[in-house]
Amino acid sequence: MLDTAHRTLVADTFDRPLRNLRLSVTDRCNLRCQYCMPEEEYVWLPREDLLTFEEIRELVNIFSELGIEKVRLTGGEPLLRKDLPTLVSMLADNHLIADLAMTTNGVLLSEQAQALYAAGLHRVTVSLDTLRPERFKRLARRDSHAKVLNGIRAVQRAGFTDLKLDTVLIRGTNDDELIDLIEYGKHVKAEVRFIEYMDVGGATQWSIDKVVSRAEIVQRLEQHYGEIQPIREISSAPAERFLLPDGTAFGIIASTTTPFCRTCDRSRLTADGMWYLCLYAQRGTDLRTPLRAGAARQELKALIASTWQHRQDRGAEKRQELRVRGALIQLEELREDPHLEMHTRGG
Ligand code: SF4
Repeated sequence: MLDTAHRTLVADTFDRPLRNLRLSVTDRCNLRCQYCMPEEEYVWLPREDLLTFEEIRELVNIFSELGIEKVRLTGGEPLLRKDLPTLVSMLADNHLIADLAMTTNGVLLSEQAQALYAAGLHRVTVSLDTLRPERFKRLARRDSHAKVLNGIRAVQRAGFTDLKLDTVLIRGTNDDELIDLIEYGKHVKAEVRFIEYMDVGGATQWSIDKVVSRAEIVQRLEQHYGEIQPIREISSAPAERFLLPDGTAFGIIASTTTPFCRTCDRSRLTADGMWYLCLYAQRGTDLRTPLRAGAARQELKALIASTWQHRQDRGAEKRQELRVRGALIQLEELREDPHLEMHTRGG
């Protein structure tokens, strides 16, 4: 452990710092994207188990004293959590959090963007898998495409900068929109990031032939735009960034073909207070029970610190080593433990 003026920094067994917390505020979602929530019925977290805003603030404060400086609100769909701007302003008060961001599907964004900005949210990432309304309807099984595009415009109007658009690319589903999405990103002044289709959580229909690899994405964009330059930067962010000849930046998150576990400083807290050290982790640490039982701050801090110090996770790298690869978790297991779902642990 290293003591600094404000915090006690901890590192895991691969010397990866505890720095980045994905904070799921609800497991509910108002879309049913095929790669995340393909089923008709789901088992939801019991409402009484959801952490209150005060409980979330307390845990984030403890995390921040152990090194967390980036917090990303996720879900499910975070904007379904009632009064989210109130939570944002509570977290924004913590001066140890340098980066307070949110990933949203954008459906409710036009109603809330202004309030979130005023509450102190720094950055927004919107998931946008297609520019075609009919395709959106098939892929997300809801007719909300226009609302998402309105939400993206509202982000800009509210005053946010550094808007990102995340696209999960699936071969035969939306991989013919690479160029259109880049052009749309230019139009709305957002950086587009292509995400390789992953085999986690509810992706029970995943197969390797549906993955459009980082190499193929670059090659196809080069065919259209000309030579692409990688942006060299020292960062633990999952996206590798590139420049088109006209200076447009875009990113690729190549979790499937080029995992980046070696530098991974991310962990995930579910809406009911289970803490997962890896997207692929099958078991988490229950922080809600000791918190509600009145554990002292120092006890919770010691629990979090020692759990992180024992962390050995490198889930995506291990998956890549497998010869035969299908969906990670079968439907029956997902039904038994909703914590295994990606929409519960915040993608
Ligand atoms: S698979 Fe796990 S360890 Fe690897 S980058 Fe993802 S969250 Fe981090």
